[in-house]
Amino acid sequence: MSALEIQHVCKDFGSTQVLKDVSLAIDSGEFLILVGPSGCGKSTLMNAIAGLEPVTSGEIHIGGEEITWRTPAERDIAMVFQSYALYPSMTVRQNIAFGLEMRKVPKAEREAAVERVADLLQISNLLERKPSQLSGGQRQRVAMGRALAREPQIYLFDEPLSNLDAKLRVEMRTEIKKLHQRLGTTIVYVTHDQIEAMTLADCIAVMRDGRILQLGSPDEIYNDPVDIFVAGFMGSPS
Ligand code: ADP
Ligand code: MG
Repeated sequence: MSALEIQHVCKDFGSTQVLKDVSLAIDSGEFLILVGPSGCGKSTLMNAIAGLEPVTSGEIHIGGEEITWRTPAERDIAMVFQSYALYPSMTVRQNIAFGLEMRKVPKAEREAAVERVADLLQISNLLERKPSQLSGGQRQRVAMGRALAREPQIYLFDEPLSNLDAKLRVEMRTEIKKLHQRLGTTIVYVTHDQIEAMTLADCIAVMRDGRILQLGSPDEIYNDPVDIFVAGFMGSPS
């Protein structure tokens, strides 16, 4: 059974077809990287999985259960965005605990979860600060902490590092990889950074114009691209 399965998902905005029959299956603990040019529908697919946008047709399953029509809060998914989306008036501690509070997790458990992820992400010293008092890298850690605190079945990352400078990006990439290895989490991660894709992925899906062109291991995608677009995109030798 797949941790996440997307079956024939289509999404239209008005008369524009943005997702055109997308199907994907991800095993539990797998790190799937989704790549493709700007505007090809990556964020739309992530939003559909998270339930932020209803699909036009098709089905989404988590752990074998159909969740296509559930609200975002009813899905066992946490999403980390490029823009962090932290609550500016709340402290780091409150930001991390907020999702748990919404789910009516008892206070002692919430506090334990905050301590656990703060320790994991090395932000224990920042818990009483507001987002405006943090650097970009620290904010991104808090956004990740908020997702980790919930311990969802599936993590969705939509270009989480693209607002960071090159040095921090490499550092955070290494940390995300370590977290994945340590926690065995199932992750769908959008990036347009080929190095990020090759270092993080168990599996890469290459998307173009609302369709998945190829799904395979980094080695397959790089050495055996299905067409010239995939080859060009991944920088494969010609
Ligand atoms: P990507 O994340 O791959 O850059 P998106 O999924 O954001 O691409 O966008 C795919 C296409 O869908 C784009 O042409 C975009 O303009 C369009 N689109 C995305 N969201 C909306 C929306 N809410 N309303 C109308 N069009 C949208
Ligand atoms: Mg996007």
